[in-house]
Amino acid sequence: MAQVKQEETLKKIVSHAKEYGFVFPSSEIYDGLGAVYDYGQNGVELKNNIKRYWWSAMTLLHENIVGIDSAIFMHPTIWKASGHVDAFNDPLIDNRDSKKRYRADVLIEDEIAKFDEKIDKEVAKAAKRFGDSFDAELYKTTNPRVLEHAAKRDELHNRFKAAMEANDLAELKQIILDYGIVCPISGTKNWTDVRQFNLMFKTEMGSTADGSMNVYLRPETAQGIFVNFLNVQKTGRMRIPFGIAQIGKAFRNEIVARQFIFRMREFEQMEMQFFVRPGEELKWFAQWKEARLKWHKALGMGDEKYRFHDHDKLAHYANAATDIEFRMPFGFKEVEGIHSRTNFDLSQHEKYSGKKIQYFDPELNQSYTPYVIETSIGVDRMFLSILCSSYEEQALENGETRVVLHLPKQLAPVKACVMPLVRKDGLPDKAREIVNMLKFDYACQYDEKDSIGKRYRRQDAVGTPFCITVDHQTLEDNTVTIRHRDSMEQERVAIADLPAIIDKEVSFKELLKKLV
Ligand code: ATP
Repeated sequence: MAQVKQEETLKKIVSHAKEYGFVFPSSEIYDGLGAVYDYGQNGVELKNNIKRYWWSAMTLLHENIVGIDSAIFMHPTIWKASGHVDAFNDPLIDNRDSKKRYRADVLIEDEIAKFDEKIDKEVAKAAKRFGDSFDAELYKTTNPRVLEHAAKRDELHNRFKAAMEANDLAELKQIILDYGIVCPISGTKNWTDVRQFNLMFKTEMGSTADGSMNVYLRPETAQGIFVNFLNVQKTGRMRIPFGIAQIGKAFRNEIVARQFIFRMREFEQMEMQFFVRPGEELKWFAQWKEARLKWHKALGMGDEKYRFHDHDKLAHYANAATDIEFRMPFGFKEVEGIHSRTNFDLSQHEKYSGKKIQYFDPELNQSYTPYVIETSIGVDRMFLSILCSSYEEQALENGETRVVLHLPKQLAPVKACVMPLVRKDGLPDKAREIVNMLKFDYACQYDEKDSIGKRYRRQDAVGTPFCITVDHQTLEDNTVTIRHRDSMEQERVAIADLPAIIDKEVSFKELLKKLV
């Protein structure tokens, strides 16, 4: 039942995103292309605002973080050095009846999550029964039924972890069989063996006559930062600790692309590699964990929607890793990863390129290969989390419903829409005057079509924080009504006061100040 509701919610968000120019399926007139999407007129604005928020938080607020924009194509040896050619694989499994393909690890992780759901249900039931005096933590550690579910979860979890660490594909299949995991489409256990699948897209560079070279579309932006480490450090005269930030496209041939823009084959990442002294990495890891969570929470979407998920299975080069998860309609899901990557990448590039990649630390009077803390967030996933958290079908007192996007106001595609009450008596000209005054600082729209009520609804649906209505009184005293999106309250204010009123709510400065 809950599953159906979740799917319904996501479906509504997908169709809303399309109807209001946020996200379109790619190549739609040719029936689309799997897990590739285009951003429409409102989507691109929201996306740009997300990127601006991230970029400003990194580069404006930290004098020791600078940005770069490296090319998508890179020398193919880079992907050998980084380990992607040999190990950027997902274990896949097919169901012979439905012919559907799944990630074996995801099937098992979903099974583990079911035990957690059972525990949550027990706790919720008990909370209802015991009322205010209920101590959830105590209940979790003492109630026999909860303990039984937890023990089963841990057993499965340990088995799964061991199989993943040993790269034991046969054991992954055996887990799927032992736990009776069925294909959600066919409902059968008719599974193929588990196989490894490399996620990188390959293409050719140069004409065959010249002897073409196989190149990859980058599966992450980070390597562009690592291979430019010395360039930036030397030309920017950067001293450790310092960071390099980058926003750009990444490509992964995902086996199962589901859940709208959550898992795409072409997507965008915002990554920052922070270079530190060896031995200081865990201190910086803890610091960046907190800083990144603060960045998310500052948007005001609700602190309870975030949680950390520390990794059990660390990549061979990492010595700590965590995800920031967001509560999507389909459960808590990773939006950002924070990883302590040791000196693995720089050392590998030193080895494969034959060039010395070291930093001379004047304070220590010694050279070393820096350690790296990475923060890596998907723009599209962030976009989806914002859309999901903002979407509301609100029942109004008059019996109608309005669909409203409670977007963080600083990120809204349109900040204000100016509307003449009627299309005559000089009201349109006055409204245009106001647009012309505001448009240099804020994305504004002008709308004179349909009733005022309909125009308000249109703006609610794209998340515009302010609607400004020009009426006959405006011509007499230069005042307008300003309507607030979330409360729908209206107040009469002087035109001259509009910039200050809007700025208070949509200013990036105020948002960024929360981070320092
Ligand atoms: P997942 O486990 O969901 O596949 P990941 O752990 O492989 O993700 P990272 O390699 O850590 O992801 O990438 C960093 C961020 O890039 C993720 O937190 C996510 O926001 C984003 N990202 C990764 N893969 C995709 C994708 N296929 N579509 C959209 N965003 C993605």
